[in-house]
Amino acid sequence: MEGVKTWDAIIVGAGVIGLSLAVELRKRGLRVLLVEKGQPGREASWAAGGMLVSSGMETPAVLQPLATASARMYPEFVHELEDESRLKIDLRSEGTLIREPAADAALRATHPLPAPLIELEPHLASRGDSFLFLNEQSVDPRDLVAAVVAAARHRGVDFSSGDHVVAVEVENGRTTGIRTNKTSFASCIVVNCAGAWAGQIGPHALPTRPVKGQMLCVVMPEKGLLRRVIRTPDVYLIARSDRRLLIGATVEEAGFDKQVVPETLQKLRQAAIELVPRLADARILEAWAGLRLGTPDALPILGATATPGYFVATGHFRDGILLAPVTAQVMAAVITGKQPSLDLSPFSPARFA
Ligand SMILES: Cc1cc2nc3c(=O)[nH]c(=O)nc-3n(C[C@H](O)[C@H](O)[C@H](O)COP(=O)(O)OP(=O)(O)OC[C@H]3O[C@@H](n4cnc5c(N)ncnc54)[C@H](O)[C@@H]3O)c2cc1C
Repeated sequence: MEGVKTWDAIIVGAGVIGLSLAVELRKRGLRVLLVEKGQPGREASWAAGGMLVSSGMETPAVLQPLATASARMYPEFVHELEDESRLKIDLRSEGTLIREPAADAALRATHPLPAPLIELEPHLASRGDSFLFLNEQSVDPRDLVAAVVAAARHRGVDFSSGDHVVAVEVENGRTTGIRTNKTSFASCIVVNCAGAWAGQIGPHALPTRPVKGQMLCVVMPEKGLLRRVIRTPDVYLIARSDRRLLIGATVEEAGFDKQVVPETLQKLRQAAIELVPRLADARILEAWAGLRLGTPDALPILGATATPGYFVATGHFRDGILLAPVTAQVMAAVITGKQPSLDLSPFSPARFA
C-alpha cells in the first residue's frame, strides 16, 4: 500500500539480544522495527548481573566458541556503543576469583592467582579456601542496555513499545509480518528475540521455560572494598565502579513469577557477609527478580526456522549479556543470507522439531 511504512526486518523483543541485533542489521543497511511489549531493555537484560563468564570452566563445551568470541568482542562492542550513544558503560576487567575447594593441582596451575589472595582482595574472609583466578570481564547491564537503546535510535531503528506481539503472520508458507494486540506490521523477515516469552510466539513451538533469578544490590561501606567478581557455589558478588555491589542470584523454577522473597534475599546477604564480613555494614539499595530463558539442553536457540523468513535468537539462559555481541553478528549474517563466522548447527531451532 502506498505511504504505509514497511520494514526489511521486524524484531520481537527489545532486550539486549533484540537491540544488539537491530543495530547490527542497521549497519548492514536493513530498515528495522523493534516491537517491545513493555519498555525496551527492562526485563532479563535489566535484571542481569553482567558477568561475562567465558573462561571455559562453567560453559558447555559446544557453546565455548561463541562465549570466547563474544568476550573478545566486548571491549570494541562497548567502545562503539559509548561512541554512538554518548553514554558511559561500566565495563570492568579486574578478573574473577572463584572458590573451588575441590580444585586439583592441574586446575590450580591453569588458573593461578596473580598475587596472594590477601593482596588481591584484603576483605575476603575465606583464607583457607582454594580460589582460582579467571581472566573475565563484567559489565553493568543497565548501562549497556541504555547505550544500545540510544545507539539503535541514533542509527534509525524504529521502535513500537507497549503492545505485545500475539502472532507471527504466515501466508503461503512464508513470513509476512506480525500481529500485536492492536495492529499488524508487515515484513518478510521476523526475528523472535522475546526472551522468557519466546515460547509463546508461533508459528513453531519452542520447549522453553522461564528461570527466575533474585538479586540484591548494596552500597559498599567503602569504595573499592571489593574489586573483582567473586563466585562461590552459594553466591556471587559483582563490584561496580561506583560503590554498588550486586549479590546474586537464585536459579528458580517458578514460572513467570518476578516477586522478591525477603527470606531468600536474606540468605543471599548472609552468604555475602560470610565471604566479606564488612558487608554487614552495607546499606541495601535495591532488590529485584528477573526471568532468564531456559531450554531443555541449556543451549541458546539461534537460526532460521522451517518457515522462510522467520528466525529465532533466544534461550541465552545465564549468558545473554555475554553472548549479545556474537549473537548480533552471527544472526545478522544468517538473516542476510551470509555464512556466519561460527558453526550454529548445535543451536538450530530445528533440534526441537
Ligand atoms: C538475575 C539474573 C542474573 C543474570 N546474570 C547474568 C550475567 O551475569 N551474565 C550474563 O551474561 N547473563 C546474565 N543473565 C541472563 C541475561 O540477563 C539474559 O540471558 C539476557 O538478558 C537475555 O536477553 P534477551 O534480550 O533475550 O531477553 P530480555 O532482556 O528478557 O528481553 C526480551 C524482551 O522481549 C519482550 N517481549 C517478550 N514477549 C513479547 C511479545 N509477545 N511482544 C513484544 N515484546 C515481547 C520483553 O518485554 C523483553 O523486553 C542473568 C539473568 C537474570 C534474570
